[in-house]
Amino acid sequence: MQSGLYIEGRWVSPVLGGTLDVVNPATEEIVHRIAAGTSQDIDLAVAAARRAFDAGPWPRLPGTERAAFLRAIAIEIRERRNDLARLEVIDNGKPMPEALWDIDDAAGCFEYYAGLAEDMDASPPETIDLADERFVSKAVREPIGVCGAIIPWNFPLLMAAWKVAPALAAGCTMILKPSELTALTALELGKIADAVGLPAGVLNIVTGDGPAAGQPLIDHRDVDKLAFTGSGAIGSKVMAAAARNIKCVSLELGGKSPLLVFEDTDVDQAVEWIMFGIFWNQGQVCSATSRVLVHTSIRDRLLTRLTEETRKIRLGNGLSENVLLGPLVSRKQLERVSAFVKRAKSEGFAILAGGNRRTIDGKGFFFEPTIILDPATDSEIWREEVFGPVVCIRSFSEEGEAIELANDTRFGLAAAVLSQDLARANRIAAALRAGIVWINCSQPTFTEAPWGGYKESGIGRELGRWGLENYLETKQITRFQGEAPWGWYIK
Ligand code: NAD
Repeated sequence: MQSGLYIEGRWVSPVLGGTLDVVNPATEEIVHRIAAGTSQDIDLAVAAARRAFDAGPWPRLPGTERAAFLRAIAIEIRERRNDLARLEVIDNGKPMPEALWDIDDAAGCFEYYAGLAEDMDASPPETIDLADERFVSKAVREPIGVCGAIIPWNFPLLMAAWKVAPALAAGCTMILKPSELTALTALELGKIADAVGLPAGVLNIVTGDGPAAGQPLIDHRDVDKLAFTGSGAIGSKVMAAAARNIKCVSLELGGKSPLLVFEDTDVDQAVEWIMFGIFWNQGQVCSATSRVLVHTSIRDRLLTRLTEETRKIRLGNGLSENVLLGPLVSRKQLERVSAFVKRAKSEGFAILAGGNRRTIDGKGFFFEPTIILDPATDSEIWREEVFGPVVCIRSFSEEGEAIELANDTRFGLAAAVLSQDLARANRIAAALRAGIVWINCSQPTFTEAPWGGYKESGIGRELGRWGLENYLETKQITRFQGEAPWGWYIK
C-alpha cells in the first residue's frame, strides 16, 4: 500500500511528518498509515499545480494528447481492478462486487473524458453573430486553471475519477484531497499517474484530515476552482472560502431523496428498488432513496415483502462471499447512524426491521438494515440525511399528496417514481424538484448523464459534458475589422 504525498510527480513525506491510521471497518484493525498533510504540504502542491498550469505543457497540449494519458490511466485501472477493489473493501467496508463496479466505473469515467478531450480538438471556437458588422467575435473554451478537489469516503476511487478525469481532460491541473478515512485508492491513482508518465504537477495528491489539509486547500489564493463532494456543513465552508477570493465552485452535497410507489407497480419490483435504493453501499450514498412513499392500496403487501426480504440480508466482511451489507465506514459513522435510530425509537416510531448495531466475531462497525414506519413528517429521521441503511416509509392516497410530500425537503438531489402508467410517471418527474429523477428504478448512474442537485443538495453538475463544463472558462475574442477608423477621439 502506498503512503506519502504525491507532489510534482514525486512521493514525498509530509513537512510535519505526521500520520493517520487506516482502519478496516469490518475488523477494526489498523491496516496502514497514511501521511497527515498540512497547510505546508498544500502550499507545495498548489505551487506545483500552478507551475504545471502556467508554464507546463498540459493546458497547451492538443486534446488528443491529453486523451492518450486518460486512456492509459483507464487501462492501468482495469489492469489493477481486483487489487483496487480489494483496497476499497478494506478501506470503506463495501461488499466486493460493489467495489468492482466502482473500479470499472472509474476506468469508464477516464475513458469517457478521454473522448471529450478528443472532441475539443474537433470543435472550432464558436463564432458569435454580432449586430455590428465592423466587429467579429468568437467564444473560445479554455481550462479554468488550478483546481482543488475534495472528496468523501463513500465511493473513494470513483469520486476521485469524477473530478480528476474531466479536470485533466479540460487541461486543468489539480490537487486532490481524498477523505482521511479512505485514501488508499487515491494513492494508487498517484502511482498510476506516475506509471503512465503524466507530466509532473498535473495531478497532486495530498492526504490529511479536513481541518489540517482540506481547509488550507479551500482557502488557498492560487487555486482557481474548488470541486467538493461531501456534507452540507463542509460544502457551506467551501462556498464561504470560495467567496473570499471569488473562486469558481461546484458542490455535490447530501440528500433525503424520495421514492414514490404507485398502486400499479409490481410489489416485488418495488421491494427490489427500495432495497437497492437504500441498502447498497450501506446506505452511505448521497442519492439514497431514504424516504419511501407508497400508495395506501398496496402498502400492507409491500411492507410484508419488504420486511421479509430486509431481514434476509446477509451482513459481513465485504471480502466474504454473498455479503450484501458491509460495515459502515467508521466508528464515528456507526455512532451517528445509531444515534439517529435511537432518537427515532424514543419518539415512538415503529421499527419493522433492524434498528441495532451488530458485530461479526465481536468486531466491526455494522448496523442492521432498518425500516422505520410512519415517522412524523417534521421528525428528524424523516427530514435529515442519516447516511446509513435506514429507510423511512409513509403512505399516500393521491398523486398530488405524494408530490407534495416528496418535495417537502430542503434537499433536491434525486427522486424515483415507480408506476406502469408512463404518462403519470413523466408528469411526476416534471413536478419533482430534484436534479436526477429515476422512473421505474433507483440509483443507476451513467458517466454520460448529468449528476447534481437542486436546493441544498449542491451547485453545478458533474458527469457527461456538464462535468467538463465545470473545468472550462469561456473567453470572448473580438476583432475590429471596420474599414474606417473608429472615430471617437480622432475624427
Ligand atoms: P465531510 O463533508 O466532513 O467530509 C468530506 C470531505 O471534506 C473529506 O475529504 C474531509 O476531509 C473534507 N473536509 C472536512 N472538513 C473540511 C474543511 N474544513 N475544509 C475542507 N475540507 C474539509 O463528510 P464526512 O464527515 O465524511 O461525513 C459526514 C456526513 O456528510 C455524512 O454522514 C453524510 O451525511 C454526509 N456525506 C455526504 C456525502 C455525499 O456524497 N453527498 C459523502 C460523504 C458524507
